Amino acid sequence: MPSTAAKPARMTKKEMEKYRRLLEEKKASLSAEIAKTRSAEVETTEEATQDIADKAVSSYTREFLYSLTDGERGTLLRIDEALGRIDLGTYGSCLNCHTAMTEKRLNAVPWAPYCLDCQELSEKGILPN
Ligand SMILES: [Zn+2]
Repeated sequence: MPSTAAKPARMTKKEMEKYRRLLEEKKASLSAEIAKTRSAEVETTEEATQDIADKAVSSYTREFLYSLTDGERGTLLRIDEALGRIDLGTYGSCLNCHTAMTEKRLNAVPWAPYCLDCQELSEKGILPN
């Protein structure tokens, strides 16, 4: 991240530690979810080989499970990135416009890389990342 463009985050160390705990809790529960989903994937594969009539349904279920874990993996990645920003002391600032994010936003999505405005741009594919 370009340090020349970044403004210092307005967040105190104490606040950052609060979000670090939130992020680590979420990371632990997501990791447990992913482990559960993986064992469900294995069961679904076994069912599919046992009963060919249900194969279509099972592959649909498998696709659903894969898409679910992709989303969870994405969130895990963002959590790791957010934890990295806490280490750097830049946590709480939007990665695009560098304004400090609101407490409300961070409490709702502690791993959010962007403020709401930039998030919208990112979802439209206007932001480079
Ligand atoms: Zn922004």
